[in-house]
Amino acid sequence: MAKDTGPQCKHCRRENMKLFLKGERCFTDKCSYERRPYRAGQHGQGRIKPSDYSIRLREKQKVRSLYGVMERQFRRYVKMADMQKGVTGENLLRILERRLDNVVYSMGFAKTRADARQLVRHNHVVVNGKRVNIPSYLTTPGDDVTLRQRSQKLTRVDAALEFSKSLETVAWIEVDQDKRVGKIKSMPDRESVTIPIREQLIVEFYSR
Ligand code: SF4
Repeated sequence: MAKDTGPQCKHCRRENMKLFLKGERCFTDKCSYERRPYRAGQHGQGRIKPSDYSIRLREKQKVRSLYGVMERQFRRYVKMADMQKGVTGENLLRILERRLDNVVYSMGFAKTRADARQLVRHNHVVVNGKRVNIPSYLTTPGDDVTLRQRSQKLTRVDAALEFSKSLETVAWIEVDQDKRVGKIKSMPDRESVTIPIREQLIVEFYSR
């Protein structure tokens, strides 16, 4: 399964905004974007007038980096979103939010989506009583998401839960952090995504 193993902070600098890909570090003065808020590389500080194409491309790349999804999978999600009823861009964000790695992150069991993805891959996560090790598994309302009994005491989970207390909670997910259990209450709505995203541009990118 392919995943992005490159430097994460480069994404924030490239997209010119904080994407919070590194957990605690993002809230300290070690944040690369805080120190150097411009693109990496020799011409990073140069001014370029973006074309219509590059504006749409960047929006797409930003969302891919945020959710840690590779191009092929992302394209598939756009197709899925297009086939669903409603606004394609919002459908797309709803699909991304429902991914199991994002749900585990939103529940506070991991500090980042990348950590959450690893928890899932390493068989620590149980959905409706069954182990699920596919980060792209799409959760649905009513699903119970928990950690395996023996994974509940992991130090990294304790640390993540402590860290998540300082973050906003998500309305469509219910979590009992002491018991390490969560439930999907409803489908995520557009307001659940707090990072500024212009999803319409992504749809336009793929309908060129
Ligand atoms: Fe982005 Fe800063 Fe976090 Fe690095 S530390 S991922 S630059 S927000």
